[in-house]
Amino acid sequence: MHTHCYSIPLHTRFRGLTLRDGLLIRGDAGWGEFSPFWDYDAPTSRPWWNAAREAADQGFPAPLRTRIPVNVTVPATTSERAHEIVAGSGGCTTAKVKVAEPGQDLGAEQARLEAVRDALGPGGKIRIDANAAWDYDEARRRLPILDRAAGGLEYAEQPCREVADLAALRRSTEVPIAADESIRRAADPYEVARAEAADVVVVKVQPLGGVRAALRIAEDIGLPVVVSSALETSVGIAAGLALAAALPTLEHACGLATVNLFTDDVTDHPLLPVDGAIDVRSVEPTPERLAATAAGPELTTRWANRLRTVAGSLP
Ligand SMILES: [Mg+2]
Repeated sequence: MHTHCYSIPLHTRFRGLTLRDGLLIRGDAGWGEFSPFWDYDAPTSRPWWNAAREAADQGFPAPLRTRIPVNVTVPATTSERAHEIVAGSGGCTTAKVKVAEPGQDLGAEQARLEAVRDALGPGGKIRIDANAAWDYDEARRRLPILDRAAGGLEYAEQPCREVADLAALRRSTEVPIAADESIRRAADPYEVARAEAADVVVVKVQPLGGVRAALRIAEDIGLPVVVSSALETSVGIAAGLALAAALPTLEHACGLATVNLFTDDVTDHPLLPVDGAIDVRSVEPTPERLAATAAGPELTTRWANRLRTVAGSLP
């Protein structure tokens, strides 16, 4: 098995990161990505390895659709910039707007949502993402106000950290609730569903152990799924698209338009949206881009050691 360690700077800080790094592996069926974040221990990283192996050794289940609608992501920026981002999104009709940023008040969030609605038009969908930043009372107070400013919210993603708070919030507000940070391991979606804590679950291929594993989980829990990336190169995004393409139903735009957060990619044909959707297709890394994104020897050794810990042995 061929492996390649990549390290690519990000345009803006994400999850505290300014660089994203990981391993790409090539097997008989194609390329797979193994890129658990560094704060994930070996047991938590094991499903990420299974996902990479699935892509490299087996490939993906047959797709039921050829294009996947995706959302544009609007960071906690000014309303003028928010308007520009949505207008220049390549035709996305769903926007995910970040809220609950430290140092920003409710007025700034309302103005941002109004600007996004103006740019999208009445037919567009707006979801907000609070990244678990509010406590229950704050979420309870803010959601109706932000719902009005947006002219109706598709859903609020992870308004609070605890599953119990999501469940309580879901019973006390009109705004649908989505779980994202609550789902980090394969057992988590079941807990969210059991607690009736969400109307929508945000699902990522690597943490759940691959496309087939994620499909089984989605079927078991019976909740609408939004497939999102774990901030991956086009190789990882291809797996997310394969999952979105294989789901029996897909009601919401997916969070897979994240390659443009990277300053480079491992292929000359990155998986980016056109007319608000990304084509479902395989990705072939190109030698020039692999060379340009290759990690240095120290990081490559760290990943080799990590893989030994997670997988038990080097491939
Ligand atoms: Mg989120």
